[in-house]
Amino acid sequence: MQIDLSPTSWGRVVAVTVAGTAVCIAAAFFVDSFNFPYLSPEALWRAQLTDLLLPLVLASSFFFFLMWKMRQLAIAQKVLAVVAATDSLTAVFNRGAFSMLVEAYLEQARSHSVVNAGALLIVDADHFKSVNDRLGHDCGDQALKLIARTIQGQLRGADIVGRIGGEEFAVFLPGADPSQSWLVAETIRRRVREAEFSPGGRPCPLSVSIGGVAFSGPTTYAEMFVVADKHLYKAKSNGRNQVSFETAAAGDPPGGGPMTVH
Ligand code: GH3
Ligand code: MG
Ligand code: MG
Repeated sequence: MQIDLSPTSWGRVVAVTVAGTAVCIAAAFFVDSFNFPYLSPEALWRAQLTDLLLPLVLASSFFFFLMWKMRQLAIAQKVLAVVAATDSLTAVFNRGAFSMLVEAYLEQARSHSVVNAGALLIVDADHFKSVNDRLGHDCGDQALKLIARTIQGQLRGADIVGRIGGEEFAVFLPGADPSQSWLVAETIRRRVREAEFSPGGRPCPLSVSIGGVAFSGPTTYAEMFVVADKHLYKAKSNGRNQVSFETAAAGDPPGGGPMTVH
């Protein structure tokens, strides 16, 4: 996640300071100009110098300080927004931010401003309790970070990954077709299996089970989640370390069906 600081750039601080100061100088000259005809040349020169220097010093300091503080506030607000949306352990989106982003995409898809197709995957670490029991909670945390990195390594720029539970991640693939989505799921499964995880020199192979659903038409996050979760359950009960994927979500025309890969 990157913080976009463009609305809080130094250019904006300088521009407002210069413009604000110029307006104050112009106002001082305008107000004082009614006295100018009655002043001696020396008094006129002094009055004009005062009209220039006083706003230049006072107004520029005021506007610069104001804009500098506003810039600091805007940056703090953006950083807070990123922190509030991020899972502190794995640095992927947290549950709330993930579901909000998926809902936002589906909303845009309903109004046809983005393609109304894609997929949702739920990725759950297998037998994770025993990883913790054998290696300790800290190593379990390292394993979760490794799984998150492995998932992120398989995604395109528009894809979204979130940690939606303790050892459970969700992946949203906007615009992907069913075969692409299935391939992403299968690659994630294989890469986690192949990843080397040897905390303190003790090898500990990891694996994930993945339930997925592709959509191509109006749907909701809740609807997709139910189907993907059902397939996750199927992948678990069929022996884990596998992908179970549905190519047709509720509301789609018939023709899709479940695909399971070991
Ligand atoms: P299954 O293959 O059926 O998913 O088995 P499992 O052991 O992975 O599932 P279960 O729900 O029984 O246990 C999940 C475990 O994940 C238990 C919990 O201690 C661990 N866990 C959840 N959150 C964290 C975390 O943030 N760090 C660590 N280290 N472990 C976590
Ligand atoms: Mg698990
Ligand atoms: Mg779980």
